[in-house]
Amino acid sequence: MADKAQRWAENTPGDFFVDRTCIDCDQCREIAPETFGDAPSHAAVYHQPNSPEHERRALMALVACPVGAIGSERRHNLAPAVEAFPEPIENNVYFCGFASANSYGASSYLIVRPEGNVLMDSPRFASRLVRKIEQMGGIRWMFLSHVDDIADHAKFRQHFGCERIIHRREIHSSIADIEQQIKGDEPQWIAPDLLAIPTPGHTRGHTVLLYRERLLFTGDHLWWSPERQSLSASSSYCWYSWKRQIESMERLLDYPFEWVLPGHGRRYHASADEMHDLLARCVAWMRQAA
Ligand code: SF4
Repeated sequence: MADKAQRWAENTPGDFFVDRTCIDCDQCREIAPETFGDAPSHAAVYHQPNSPEHERRALMALVACPVGAIGSERRHNLAPAVEAFPEPIENNVYFCGFASANSYGASSYLIVRPEGNVLMDSPRFASRLVRKIEQMGGIRWMFLSHVDDIADHAKFRQHFGCERIIHRREIHSSIADIEQQIKGDEPQWIAPDLLAIPTPGHTRGHTVLLYRERLLFTGDHLWWSPERQSLSASSSYCWYSWKRQIESMERLLDYPFEWVLPGHGRRYHASADEMHDLLARCVAWMRQAA
């Protein structure tokens, strides 16, 4: 629960505010950019919602915030904002909201498929979200891009009986029981529409997931940067090897995709040709920055 006594000075006066527990994960700025903006190392309310739709988006950000740093002076009915998650991105692919502090507020996604649903990285194990996922067919596989974004994986495993998948190089003693472990650097088919592509760099076993040669779930390997207006990665947040991350990025040029759906950073949609061009420019930029 956000504390109005702890609200940042940058918040514009009015109903909604961000307090000092904000961890600057960016969820609110992506979900409700008309309300939330950047302050040095945290988010703040820059424009109070001035329409029902803006208020609905601000309340969705409040629900998604991993640390409860968003508050309001007035009481609001949160039910519609809670019901809005998982939020459709395209056809049968959804953004889960309900980010977890244990994965630093990373985004997670649900793919609804007749052959069994896939949860991509871990949201918070929130009862309202869990109920919605049950209604949408449960979870067959939980694909974990890397060890930083696994959050409540064990609770999802226990509740849904899903098989968790992660690269063997991400395994440590507390997650040694993960059901499926990807090995080596070669891509591996999980199912005819799901390809796991190891992308070592951010971590040793970081792996992205390509769905239907169209949607690429990129974990912390690749995202859209609004500042650079480009696909991007970060050497400052590269925990294993920037050199390996560049090589991994270059290998992605072999695959067509139209969506980048990251854990951290912004989502992006473009034609496969434009995406290829943007990715090539990202690789060139990474080489220059090395
Ligand atoms: S969602 Fe919450 S923690 Fe994340 S940037 Fe916004 S206020 Fe901060």
